[in-house]
Amino acid sequence: MNIPYLELKKVTALHADEIQQAVADVVGSGWYLQGHAVQQFEQHYADYIGTRCCVGVANGLDALTLTLRAYMEMGKLCEGDEILVPANTFIATVLAITENRLKPTFIDIDASTLDLNLEALKQAITPHTKALLLVHLYGRCTYDEHIQSICDSNNLLLIEDNAQAHGCCYKTKRTGSLGHAACHSFYPGKNLGALGDAGAVTTDDEALAQTIRSIANYGFSEKYIARHKGRNSRLDEVQAAVLDVKLKYLDEENRRRMDIAHTYYGNIKNDAVRLPVLMGEGSNVYHIFPVFTPHRDALQAFLLSKGIHTLIHYPIPPHQQTCYKEYNRFSLPVAEQLAREELSLPLNPAMTHEEVAYVIEIINCKSLKL
Ligand SMILES: *Cc1c(COP(=O)(O)O)cnc(C)c1O
Repeated sequence: MNIPYLELKKVTALHADEIQQAVADVVGSGWYLQGHAVQQFEQHYADYIGTRCCVGVANGLDALTLTLRAYMEMGKLCEGDEILVPANTFIATVLAITENRLKPTFIDIDASTLDLNLEALKQAITPHTKALLLVHLYGRCTYDEHIQSICDSNNLLLIEDNAQAHGCCYKTKRTGSLGHAACHSFYPGKNLGALGDAGAVTTDDEALAQTIRSIANYGFSEKYIARHKGRNSRLDEVQAAVLDVKLKYLDEENRRRMDIAHTYYGNIKNDAVRLPVLMGEGSNVYHIFPVFTPHRDALQAFLLSKGIHTLIHYPIPPHQQTCYKEYNRFSLPVAEQLAREELSLPLNPAMTHEEVAYVIEIINCKSLKL
């Protein structure tokens, strides 16, 4: 059997007719930016997440960058302010901070829960700390009442990076509605993926939403009147129309992801391979299914020899990247260990039962010596 990590063609094919019709409608409309499709999707996505506002932008990195930038324009953040961020995230989370001349404070994570190490979090807070950028990595909700109370008692802005967790819940609320603002990526491989780049910010803060919308549109408050030194970062009509179709199926596809994950949890039996702690119903939408082993490279090679393709999320933590020389000497041992031990198994809504069973059979295989 050959199992690619992710075949987008198959994911798109799940709703091909509707997607093609939606694209054709936009093509035929002659209106490609700032029109009805974006307005519709923003409304539907805000309703889905449970926030008053949604602003479509060009991609997930821009959603993060523009949110921080808007807080600076509004006087809530200043150059040099410290932003708490998990040490084990995708680099875009950190790029948004440094792009705005803010300072990332990397927080190591707890090896057993994969959540932020709360002691490390509390100790890292200084008078210059102004926000926590919380990342729901792998599709797992990393928010809880401890995080909320730390933010409350230190007067921190709570910003969610929800790029990997569309549809995830904390109790009855969705991630993306838990903090002051949340940033979403609709990169094609995400749970809710476009056919190109796309992103959004959700928030209840109308002033923030308006500021982001303005900065993303040359800084205009109205046509040709520039209040901010803006940029161009807009969600386009074609992507919005595609996303509006796919949003209808997000819960169903997330349920399929959960079924596959539960099959992995129930059947993978190999002492050398650690699975992440099982989360409560709904609080993990399994964007990525990570497993951990000190023999990661051997496991990856063995799976590949059996036709199973895997990925590593992520091989180098942001503070060890060449572009962040100033942070290279920092020691964040758990994040560094996970970067050495993580392997992502194939998991997506287009996978068949046979494919899932085959992945399990190979990981449990007696001839796999780790
Ligand atoms: C994908 C991703 C981003 C960046 O989104 P883009 O749309 O690719 O710019 C940011 N943060 C996390 C955690 C992501 O997974």
